[in-house]
Amino acid sequence: MEVDLKNSKSILVTGGAGFIGNNLIRFLFKNTRAKIFNLDKLGYSSSLEAIDKYLNDLKIESQNRYEFLNCNLVNDKDVDHAIKYSKPDIIFNLAAESHVDRSIDSPLNFIESNIIGTFNLLNKTLSYWKELKSYKKDSFRLIHISTDEVFGSLSNDDPRFNERTPYDPSSPYSASKASSDHLVNAWFHTYGLPVITTNCTNNYGPWQFPEKLIPLTILNALSNNSISVYGSGMNIRDWIYVEDHVDALCQIIQKASPGEKYCVGGNSERTNIEVVKHICSILDEIKPCDSPYSELIIFVKDRPGHDNRYAIDSSKIEKEIGWSPNYNFEDTLKKTVQWYIKNQKWCNKILKKSGYDKKRIGI
Ligand code: NAD
Repeated sequence: MEVDLKNSKSILVTGGAGFIGNNLIRFLFKNTRAKIFNLDKLGYSSSLEAIDKYLNDLKIESQNRYEFLNCNLVNDKDVDHAIKYSKPDIIFNLAAESHVDRSIDSPLNFIESNIIGTFNLLNKTLSYWKELKSYKKDSFRLIHISTDEVFGSLSNDDPRFNERTPYDPSSPYSASKASSDHLVNAWFHTYGLPVITTNCTNNYGPWQFPEKLIPLTILNALSNNSISVYGSGMNIRDWIYVEDHVDALCQIIQKASPGEKYCVGGNSERTNIEVVKHICSILDEIKPCDSPYSELIIFVKDRPGHDNRYAIDSSKIEKEIGWSPNYNFEDTLKKTVQWYIKNQKWCNKILKKSGYDKKRIGI
């Protein structure tokens, strides 16, 4: 059965104040008539500015289509209340602690948000779903947004990850996401909850908290700070523009059967050093300074358990859903650099609020 996303009445997005979540909410605003509920605990990486700005430009009637719910998934009573209050037809679950370095320093936050939080969401959604009228029950979906990091690390000549790749997470972050994926799977097989899981590769684009490789490199270069790269910089990631990821999620929710899993990739494998040098060359072109930005690059001691390569084989989503990435890496990287140049004020504000040391390393 196809889900009618456009005519859904209520959509609940968890983690909607984060990078991918706020891009998703703006997409849902444009492409559906639903009321959109944004559930978020407002952690260090959160910002409501993108959505607020977007809503300010809309008519008042449209602004009534949005509501923010300040809620931590770790608190099951609040989760129960948020679900009963928003009465969702669809739930997009993006709320998670998401930075590998932070998971090495403070793993407990990841266990709480990513495992207990997902458990609470599933449990309370199940109680809500069981009480729905049968036609609503049939079209209800919860889509759980996960990462390719659950599959572990590839060597340079291994075939890419796909939906049948065994889980082999290396970091507390990827282990906590792997656990949440298993819980989602169990709630489908045991209780019949109509869930779908996606595993996506590295996202980039506007409104990403500047601790990850791409925005951090841009900001360090603009501030004339050194640009730190782990190890030899030869680790490989497959990059996807955030709008392509959001588009994939919205197509999957409409067409995928409950219990299905999809790997979502950008077909853009690059070594970290290639990405960093590329950003430097874009800056040399659009914001030249006395010497090339690449002179700021330094290589630092590698992160423990640093995965060598992530890469996604997207054949299943291409074949079954008819989705493939629209955007080209070079163009959207340039667009992203331009966005960060224009929005340094937002970056400085959010970094200051979070107490973040900008010289740390991203990714
Ligand atoms: P982000 O850190 O920018 O946003 C995550 C949001 O979740 C934050 O606003 C945070 O406050 C919220 N959150 C965290 N724990 C919560 C809790 N217990 N209760 C309520 N809200 C909570 O992260 P992102 O990059 O937007 O990632 C979103 C999701 O996509 C995550 O689940 C992540 O694992 C997944 N993902 C991200 C990438 C990527 O490259 N960024 C790639 C694949 C998958």
